[in-house]
Parts: sequence; C-alpha cells; structure tokens
Amino acid sequence: MSFSSETKKEIAAALPDKVCCRAAQLYGMLEFGHAFDREEISLQTEQEAVADVYDHLLPRLCGIPAPQRDTLRRRVTLQQSRIPDAAHRQKVLERFGHSGSEISLRLNRANLDCDGCARALLRGAFLACGAVTDPEHDYHLEFSVPHYNLSRDLLALLREVDFPAKTVTRSGSYIVYIKESERIEDCLTYLGAQKAALEMMGVKMVKSIRNDTNRRINCESANIDKTVQATALQVEAVRKIEETVGLSALPPELQALAQLRLDNPDMSLRDLGAALEPPISRSGVNHRLQRILAFAEKL
Ligand SMILES: [Zn+2]
Repeated sequence: MSFSSETKKEIAAALPDKVCCRAAQLYGMLEFGHAFDREEISLQTEQEAVADVYDHLLPRLCGIPAPQRDTLRRRVTLQQSRIPDAAHRQKVLERFGHSGSEISLRLNRANLDCDGCARALLRGAFLACGAVTDPEHDYHLEFSVPHYNLSRDLLALLREVDFPAKTVTRSGSYIVYIKESERIEDCLTYLGAQKAALEMMGVKMVKSIRNDTNRRINCESANIDKTVQATALQVEAVRKIEETVGLSALPPELQALAQLRLDNPDMSLRDLGAALEPPISRSGVNHRLQRILAFAEKL
C-alpha cells in the first residue's frame, strides 16, 4: 500500500468526537469529492476505508439512505459512492447550506461550528482529494481541487490554521500543496495521521544518516587518493636521483629516508619516521621528503 493510502486509512480510522466536527468532516468529503451539485453527488477513491466513512456519515447526518457503491475499473480501481436520488441530493445540499446550482462552488463557513471543525473539514478534504508522496522519494502533500474559488478558500483556511500552502494548476485541477518536510509532518499530525508523521520523521533520519555516511566515505577516499599520489611522487623523485646522480649525492640525513621510501612505498610517514635511526617525527619525515622532492626537481 502506498504511503498516501496508508495515511488516508489512518485518518479514516477515527471519527471526530463531536457531531458538529463529524458534520464538518463529511462536508469536506462532499465538497472536495468527485461531484457536489444537483446533478451528481459522489466520491471516488482508491481507498475503501475512505468510501466507508462517506457511506457511514451521510445517512446519519443527512437522514438519507446509504449511498450507492460501485467499483470502477480505471487506470486504478476506484470505489465510487454516489447519491442516485435527486431529492436526497437536494437534502444533502441544503443540510450544508448549498443550493446545488451555484455558479462557483465556495466553502460555506457556516458549517464550521466549534474550534475543532476546521480541522475536521480539512481531514475530510484530505480524504477526498488529498495525497502525500512517499518520503523516500520526495516531500510533498497536496489537495487536488477541481474548482478555482474552492481552492482559494482551502488555501485561506489552511493559512488560518498555520499551514501556509502554495498553489499550482495541473491538468485542469487547482493543486494546493505543502513542500517543506517539517510542515508536512505537522500537517499529518494535525489531520490525525500521527503514525504517518512518525514514519516520515524516521525515513528522514535514515536518509540524513545515509547522506552523512556517503559524504564521509567520499571524503576519506579523496584523502586516500591524495596519499597515494604523494607517495608515487616521492618514489619517482628518489628513483630519478638514484638513476642520475645516485642517492649518495643527497645530504646524509636524507639518504636513509630515500632508500627507506624506495623499499617501502606503502609505509606511512609515521612508520617511516619510526624506522629511521635515530627515529624522527611524522612532520620531520614530511619535511625531509619535501627536501628530497626539491632535490630531484633541480636535477
Ligand atoms: Zn466541531
């Protein structure tokens, strides 16, 4: 199951306690669902649990029979719940203060009673038209709204509850979206998907550890490359001296080190220093190697 489906299932599993909030959630599902007018009231969803909530709340809050449920085989399999009877549709529209013949569908704020109703409405809207991308791939939460003014009303409501969202148009729909991972986590928690929010935080943590490790490995291998390169230059310099003027041409304190480097190209500077008689420090070795390189340079 996709991350989005899991999130919706989690939200769908719990209903708000208060009746006003349940009605607000249903209102969100109706208005942001597939259709909400006199000709058609329907919800289309990939998630059976979401359609179940719609079917559960409609008869209880609007006094109509349970909606008709169909399975639609499209690109994906969809559950469709719709109200086939015109009189029942009218009853539902009136229950939420709509005529069903509005030119432009707007959010009717009269359906928000208590402090919790906005959250409930947003839960319903997310169930009906929301999606959240798997955090393994990207951070993106969106509501896909078919009506422009309704998308503006949603944007305003989200802003009021401290979720500033952005909008973009995609194939005739108005997308209201949030990108920042922390905002998405907060929004998921707000909508009642705590498990999804925690999962997202977990994925983020693993990703950041993975990135840190990769960065460190890259850094280490770059250092190893540098060491290998430096050693190769030293060996080359010593060979050049040996083949031209002979190692005996070097000042005495450099001769032993040059021979040692030639015999042990893999030895670290510290070990080279320890192998000398008398032993010298790592930086002492480094200094003498620089002098050997300079000597070879002049040849
Ligand atoms: Zn309420």
